[in-house]
Amino acid sequence: MLMRRIGGSQLSREPSRISKKVLEIKPSGIRRFFDLIIGRDDVISLGVGEPDFPVPWRIREEMIYSLEKGITSYTSNQGLPQLREAIVEYYKKFGVESHPNNVVITTGVSEGVDIALRALVEEGDGVIVPEPAYVSYKPLAYLAGAEVAEIPTTPDFKLSYEDLVRARKSMRVKAIILCYPNNPTGVSFSRKELEEIADAAIEMDAVVLSDEIYAELTYEGTHISIASLNGMEDRTVILSGFSKAFAMTGLRVGYIIAPDDILDAVLKIHQYCMLCAPVTAQIGAIEALKNGEDEMERMRAEYLRRRNFFVRRLSKILDVRMPEGAFYVFPSIKETGLSSEEFAERLLFEKNVAVVPGNAFGDCGEGYIRCAYAVHMEKLREAADRIEDFVNSLK
Ligand code: PLP
Repeated sequence: MLMRRIGGSQLSREPSRISKKVLEIKPSGIRRFFDLIIGRDDVISLGVGEPDFPVPWRIREEMIYSLEKGITSYTSNQGLPQLREAIVEYYKKFGVESHPNNVVITTGVSEGVDIALRALVEEGDGVIVPEPAYVSYKPLAYLAGAEVAEIPTTPDFKLSYEDLVRARKSMRVKAIILCYPNNPTGVSFSRKELEEIADAAIEMDAVVLSDEIYAELTYEGTHISIASLNGMEDRTVILSGFSKAFAMTGLRVGYIIAPDDILDAVLKIHQYCMLCAPVTAQIGAIEALKNGEDEMERMRAEYLRRRNFFVRRLSKILDVRMPEGAFYVFPSIKETGLSSEEFAERLLFEKNVAVVPGNAFGDCGEGYIRCAYAVHMEKLREAADRIEDFVNSLK
């Protein structure tokens, strides 16, 4: 049989047959650093935003049992009714009343962000992305046709009413993407701060896409969903999932809670591009919400312990703000005189510690690095020693 090989040709085509929009987006700055350390056991990686815990055993057991029973088919497009009901119950703890009809189960928050943007954005609509920001927001907004307005939030990483009003002057704002506790800064918002953001959203008639994937990993105060504030129930799209708090990253399951019209629109896209989220993961997610609280609490307590240790160590050598949640810390490295990329590259090559340069999260992230403390305490201690040695060697 004659075989034809797909791929491997180094020939570049002129003109390119790839869509201009795709050509214009840059590959993720996080990926570039992951690629550098693949297969290197000597490196301590604080680069990956991924829990170092396995999926709690009882969740795994439920999934295994479902596979043994042969439950491997598609679910309804919207997701298993029991899971949607459990999510409605669960979200009450963050002050939100909803209905299973207003929930769609997605293939992670990643899909949720994508389809929510595609459902809302008309070519040229303004989408506000406060920066530093999780890497997928801008490219996905851009692919959906948005004109993206970045709002730099350094040095306190807070988004204010004034910031939003200023952005509104230059464009018609359709949506604001919020993420708290934040990746990469760990910053969260108080009720008062959220109320200011809500006021601005209502005044500019914008929808808030609220990425609350780190809600459970809140160490100071309690997480409040912006959807629970007066006037926000009809203009908030909650995006959340099981990857972080329940350590279910590879299982790919998340959800959207949205008002009727937006829910119908996202469901339309979801049914064509995804059909449904993986059934095994949906079954695991039901177990996570029903009986996973203790395990989740145990992981949360461990992240808190690591946060306290690591931030204390970093604060001896770098300017660092105590993060309120998630499992990231975002210290300034400006005093070292190095750029974020130089710092991260030299730390990797000289001390075998991987961190992500802050500019991977937007231009205003220059002068910072992101360290994920989702690694074992022993490794974190060793990483702190090596970072200290490295910073001292620059003096
Ligand atoms: N949103 C934020 C803020 C994240 O940090 C991540 C992953 O790092 C995601 C979404 C992606 O989540 P999922 O695994 O549910 O697609």
